[in-house]
Amino acid sequence: MISVSSISEFIYCPVKLYLKHFQENNIQTQEMIAGKIVQEMRRGFEEITKRNIWNIKDNIEIKEIYEVLFDEVPQFIENVSRKYSKMYEVDILNLNDLCNDLEEDFELESRFMALKIKEVLKNTNKRGMEITEMFFPQSLLHFPLKNEELNLSGKIDKIEIINGIYYPIDTRTAIPPGNGVWLADALQIAAYAVLIDYELNKEVLVGFVEYKKIGERRPVIINSILHNKLFNVLDSMNRMFERQEIPEFKLFKNKCQKCEYMEICEYRG
Ligand code: SF4
Repeated sequence: MISVSSISEFIYCPVKLYLKHFQENNIQTQEMIAGKIVQEMRRGFEEITKRNIWNIKDNIEIKEIYEVLFDEVPQFIENVSRKYSKMYEVDILNLNDLCNDLEEDFELESRFMALKIKEVLKNTNKRGMEITEMFFPQSLLHFPLKNEELNLSGKIDKIEIINGIYYPIDTRTAIPPGNGVWLADALQIAAYAVLIDYELNKEVLVGFVEYKKIGERRPVIINSILHNKLFNVLDSMNRMFERQEIPEFKLFKNKCQKCEYMEICEYRG
């Protein structure tokens, strides 16, 4: 079964996905481990923020709101960092840099959130739960989706449900393009949209990619053009796996230089 996350790997380079699928040695790079760490820390940060919103009292200043929100975050980062340094062979200097960067990002995000919460407290009667719902709408987190007919499965980062409408949201740590989203990201959102339609019987007209590095959520309109592109890519992927043949592709040397299969790939540029 094709996993939604492998669509972006296929778009990056079909050979890479082919090697990953058919080679015994599944390579785990420092970048992949870093990706897992970022995902876990982001998830935890959101949970801590949601919980801490409940502890915000009336009539307190922005600085105090920030302190309440950010409480526990440094300790949480340290715990996750320690866990991963025991689980994997990680480069400690890189891990420390990653944790420092994340702590800076979380601190900034908490300060910004404190500013917004202060405005809500000042101008509305919303408190506790209502404020949490305002900033974190009802959602399904890391929700598994699977459809035999489509031969497709995946785990979506988040589905936000607002007034009964389902919005798939995928989080990315990469820098986005100048405008819109990368094609691979749009295709993955479209794939989740199709799965939500098939499995949850909810039509999805728009999804979002959250580019955390720049703190921006960008929309993806699910239209027939994107659907067609998605099904063409899925057809090519299915053919590649069934026939065990690599489809035609364009080689980009700069991609090869960053690729973990560089050492064993006979196509490398
Ligand atoms: S080395 Fe280049 S051609 Fe080979 S899998 Fe990686 S990106 Fe693709």
